[in-house]
Amino acid sequence: MSDPSQQEKLRQHFARRVTTQARVVLDTWQKIHGNSDSFTAHREEFTAATDKLVRYAHRFEMADHAAAGGKILELLRNHPANTALDVHSERQLQDAADALARSTLRRTDQNDTETPHQFRRTPVYIALENEEMANRLIRQLEFFGFRASAFNSAKELTEACALHKPETILMDVNFGGSQHAGIATIERLQARHDTPVPIIFMSDEDGSIQTRLRASRCGGEEFFYPAVDPGQLIEKIETYTHGNTVEPYRVLVLDDSRAQAKFMETVLKKAGMTAYIITDPMEIIHALDMFSPEIIILDMYMPGCTGMEIARVIRQQDRFHSVPIIYLSAEEDVSKQLHAMSLGGDDFLTKPIDPKHLIATLHNRGRRARSLLALMIRDSLTGLYNHTHTLHLLDQEIVRARQKNQPLCFAMLDIDYFKKVNDTFGHPIGDRVLRSLSMFLKQRLRKTDHIGRYGGEEFAIILPDTRPTDARNVLNEIRERFSELQQPAGDREFNVTFSCGVAAWNNNASQTLCENADRALYASKEHGRNCVILADTW
Ligand code: GH3
Ligand code: MG
Ligand code: MG
Repeated sequence: MSDPSQQEKLRQHFARRVTTQARVVLDTWQKIHGNSDSFTAHREEFTAATDKLVRYAHRFEMADHAAAGGKILELLRNHPANTALDVHSERQLQDAADALARSTLRRTDQNDTETPHQFRRTPVYIALENEEMANRLIRQLEFFGFRASAFNSAKELTEACALHKPETILMDVNFGGSQHAGIATIERLQARHDTPVPIIFMSDEDGSIQTRLRASRCGGEEFFYPAVDPGQLIEKIETYTHGNTVEPYRVLVLDDSRAQAKFMETVLKKAGMTAYIITDPMEIIHALDMFSPEIIILDMYMPGCTGMEIARVIRQQDRFHSVPIIYLSAEEDVSKQLHAMSLGGDDFLTKPIDPKHLIATLHNRGRRARSLLALMIRDSLTGLYNHTHTLHLLDQEIVRARQKNQPLCFAMLDIDYFKKVNDTFGHPIGDRVLRSLSMFLKQRLRKTDHIGRYGGEEFAIILPDTRPTDARNVLNEIRERFSELQQPAGDREFNVTFSCGVAAWNNNASQTLCENADRALYASKEHGRNCVILADTW
């Protein structure tokens, strides 16, 4: 046992006992928490479980677990017998349980140190009868930066969910062996959460309407029957995870009453939106430029001008032609409201405004406005920016780089021998490769980078505030990792590579920057493909 790796294995083995016991403690707390009556019923069980945890934690030298468990025991000891929990004690116990959950998560995280790239925080859980398929999926998902775990039993899955709510669960309808056992497990799990976890169900055997209905009623967003290949599944998982979390809506409010404007600001912020408040109508042009709102709320009557006049001015700018405008006023005269709407407004809300109504209206308007905009600026196959919009963004970033005196890089990327992929595996698999590369890029680049589909199998990337050698290194790392990715095609797998050219902005026009990147890309093709070349360095 002198071999350090053996010792480490042993340590991990014992650590697992402690974390398993910590989960038992947290599970028991779940039963008590929020239901003060059940405290007396479960008190003994809770104390025994925590006591065992503390003993294990001391024995295996896991100090943070020992401390968190010790705190819970102390609180339990000081609580008078046969009395329910009051709010204060419940709060204290919750804090101690939170501390325990944090130590347990930290411990689990440590197992991921061998994987070099960053993981998203929330996990994806996989509960499939087919273990081989589950393992294959985990490997694939890790390439896309997901933290995925597979489970062998409903019990394990339930424990993991209690500890950490997943982004999504991929569930076999019959997980656990018997008919509908998987759905039954999900029904129980969902009952524990305020907001349901989106579930992707799959089945090799059962696609009946009864099964589909039951699956859909307990949060089943997708139903795959007969089961599909991993590529398709990963795309679905991507859509249900926070990688796609909606950005907060940017809402501009113009209201001459400072109190009303402040109130709106509070309501919007509470709903997770980004608010920009002005009280002087004459600031509108500046606000549009600075903030680029996605939704505009206008007071109807202000000194100097009306909301309708402001709306007309806004609509005169092409860029804001389709931004939703919502009027806000005490006006109750329906014919005046209709008149206001005809002058370029989309909605009318009357004061005093019900915050719930306001937020619901903004969500509806915002969602529609975004999907319309997406049709205009995004490529439908990959969801990346289209050619035109990419060039527009490049121009914008050049202006910004000049203002801030920062470096800027532009990269062009082209898949190698893509025609052969189409010829060998078919066009739909080719499309899947394009989507997998686009997900891969989104996952690995910064939020501030812009990724566009330049055409066919060519992509363009704008990297603001990035020096040329850094850009080359980042793209080279992406190139290497992407080339390792197994692309699934039915029962077969294959690899795809790309070539890339990077050009640094040199105070030149966007046109020149594109040409330089394109020449570098061409050079990397000449150079044998599957490489990244920096313009003017070959
Ligand atoms: P190279 O390494 O020189 O880039 O070779 P290549 O085969 O990738 O390049 P070529 O330009 O000869 O072929 C590009 C292929 O990409 C041909 C075209 O059918 C395919 N393609 C373009 N757009 C799409 C698409 O949206 N979906 C699919 N599946 N294929 C596409
Ligand atoms: Mg190509
Ligand atoms: Mg090409």
